[in-house]
Formats: sequence, C-alpha cells, structure tokens
Amino acid sequence: MEKEIEELQKLIDNYENLVFFGGAGVSTESGIPDFRSVDGLYHQQYDYPPETILSHTFFMKHPEEFFQFYSKKMLYEGAEPNEAHKKLAALERAGKLKAVITQNIDNLHQMAGSKNVYELHGSVYRNYCMKCGRFYGFDTMKKAQGVPRCQCGGIIKPDVVLYEEGLDMDTLQGAVRAIERADVLIIGGTSLSVYPAASLIDYYRGKHLVLINKSATPRDSFADLLIQKPIGEVFAKIKVKGE
Ligand SMILES: [Zn+2]
Repeated sequence: MEKEIEELQKLIDNYENLVFFGGAGVSTESGIPDFRSVDGLYHQQYDYPPETILSHTFFMKHPEEFFQFYSKKMLYEGAEPNEAHKKLAALERAGKLKAVITQNIDNLHQMAGSKNVYELHGSVYRNYCMKCGRFYGFDTMKKAQGVPRCQCGGIIKPDVVLYEEGLDMDTLQGAVRAIERADVLIIGGTSLSVYPAASLIDYYRGKHLVLINKSATPRDSFADLLIQKPIGEVFAKIKVKGE
C-alpha cells in the first residue's frame, strides 16, 4: 500500500471522531459529471452558461429553459455509490465517522447507507410545490415533460440551492459544529474554490487535515496529509474494522 494511504489508514484506526467534507469529485467517479466543467457542448446547446441557468432569477423568469437544462444535466438516473461513498457509510456504522458534509445533490451518500449527511446545496430527491408546499420525489421530476406541475397547478421547485439563493442555516450550522468537533477532517473531491467550501475549513481546529484530490487546490499547503489521487481509488484500499 502506498505510504499516504497507510497514513490515512492509521488516522482512521486511531481516531474516533472523523468528519468528511466532499465535493463534485466524489460523484464524478459514479458517472455524474461536474456541471461546472463546461465543455463545448454547453455552448452549442444552450444560450447561457450553467451558472446563469441555475440561478434564482433565471428559474423565476424562464422556468421552461431552466427545467430543460435541469432534467438533462442534473437528474442522473442509475448512478451508483462508489467505493468512497461505501467506505464512508461503513465508517459511520463502525462509529468512527460522525458526519458527511457534501456539496453534491445526488443522494449517493444516503444510497450507500450514510445517515448523518449535511447537504449544503440541497438534493434533487426533494422537491416542493411553490404554491401548496406538497412534496414530490425524484421520479416526478424525471418523468415531467417541460415544467413540472403540482396537482394544484403550482410549479414544483427542486430543493436545490440555486445561484443567488442562501444556504439552509440549520444545515450550515450542523456542518460547522461537526467540523469544529472533528479530530480528523478528510476533505475530498473538491478544488476548494467554491463557497462555502474554503471558509468551512477554517472552523477546523484539529491537527489532522487530510486532503484528497486529483489536482492541486489552493489549500494544499494547509493539509497535514495530501493525497493527489482519485478519491474512490483511495477509499477502495481503506479497511474498516468489523466490515
Ligand atoms: Zn401544489
């Protein structure tokens, strides 16, 4: 086993209060692309950049175009948890991992069995009518043709934090509390360039900041253990006692 992964294994074995903070890179290995990684296709297919389409103003003004993009680019069917999701869930079952904080909206941590998940940017699995508040799941949104509508006629809005919208305060506070208390903070699959990722790390007071990312991040020098590898590949080698 590589030296860095051995070190990560040691931290996992020796500490009882681990917290994981993850970004888009955790899901790309499950086949869900990062919508920010803009390719030529976007420019051919859409008149606006994804950040504009996924903004509150755009949603209110052009719901048809919003949902055209949203159902094609954000609602992935059949994506499965990868080794990172599975090992994190196993670590929670083993009483080691106290929380997963994620910027992803794809529900893959819950599908893998994680219970304490702070979804900073919401979830495509929760959707509410803007008029009567009725709840709708993933399938309704996936099946909808055009703008998804409630039985009452209202538009069904995904419980996903759009650009210009604030984060849910309870979720954010829960995430901050978990990070403050963590002995070991493992950050993975994020370039740490998107708010609030970078600022959340500042709440960590421990001595074991682990950073796992394929490419360099602006916070690499803060890491006590830096692993520049795909996160699924790293967790595949981690052993969880009792599993
Ligand atoms: Zn309704």
